[in-house]
Amino acid sequence: MSSVLANNISGKVVVITGGSSGLGETTARHLASLGASVVLGARRIDKLEAIAADIRTAGGKVAVQATDVTRPDEVKALVNLAQERFGKVDVVINNAGLMAIAPLAETRVDEWDRMIDINVKGLLYGVAAALPIFQAQGSGHFINISSVAGIKVFSPGGTVYSGTKFAVRAIAEGLRHEVGGKIRSTIISPGAVESELKYGSSDTQGAAFVKDFYQQNEIPSESVARAIAYAIEQPADVDINEIVLRPTVQEF
Ligand code: NDP
Repeated sequence: MSSVLANNISGKVVVITGGSSGLGETTARHLASLGASVVLGARRIDKLEAIAADIRTAGGKVAVQATDVTRPDEVKALVNLAQERFGKVDVVINNAGLMAIAPLAETRVDEWDRMIDINVKGLLYGVAAALPIFQAQGSGHFINISSVAGIKVFSPGGTVYSGTKFAVRAIAEGLRHEVGGKIRSTIISPGAVESELKYGSSDTQGAAFVKDFYQQNEIPSESVARAIAYAIEQPADVDINEIVLRPTVQEF
């Protein structure tokens, strides 16, 4: 990485939803090591505080706040915390997510609701919280975590999850189209990546399928952290619209 690009991350203020594990946690550690100030939200405040302690020990800047992305007021408070603590908001990474795999015929309506609330409405609440700030600043960057399941329907079992990830791509692209110019919108669509996501299925068969699939395919979460850093480090007139990354061995 050239020093010019590295400097384009240093000093930026980056809000990450779902920062308590997986991609969000690894991305927070990576961006903080490159000099960004990171502001992490998730429900498990104990995990967030442990990650923040590590980042501070390593010389990084971090703030954390218990945040449920299904509550617009809590997402707004997280973005406001970034502004209060660090004076601005440069990047919002809409990352919090849930993957519950089960055939539609199981009619696990509660899980459908939770996936839609977290993966889709949670993202929209991130946009609602940060867009007015980005417009007032005349700059800003949304990074929206979709999935390869947002490109191809992951069925049977992942139909509703896929639906939420297709929605992420549609909303992120519409956002780019509507507010582009000074505000950037990036879609990141990973394949199987090591994290806690694979434990989100209550259906026994769905959970077994996911466990097997991840055992055969998953790659470390640093792969996504590097992709996110690449999007952030570009000059302000370059918007990396979409990155798709899969484990080399993954077919789907
Ligand atoms: P993890 O389960 O490890 O992380 C999910 C994160 O979301 C956690 O920090 C969790 O924190 C948070 N979260 C869940 N529900 C809520 C909520 N209601 N409010 C706030 N935070 C919440 O999985 P990943 O790191 O893999 O997932 C991150 C994103 O990456 C998701 O959008 C996922 O769909 C996407 N993705 C992951 C892939 C993979 O293979 N791992 C592949 C493609 C996309 P807490 O429980 O503390 O609230």
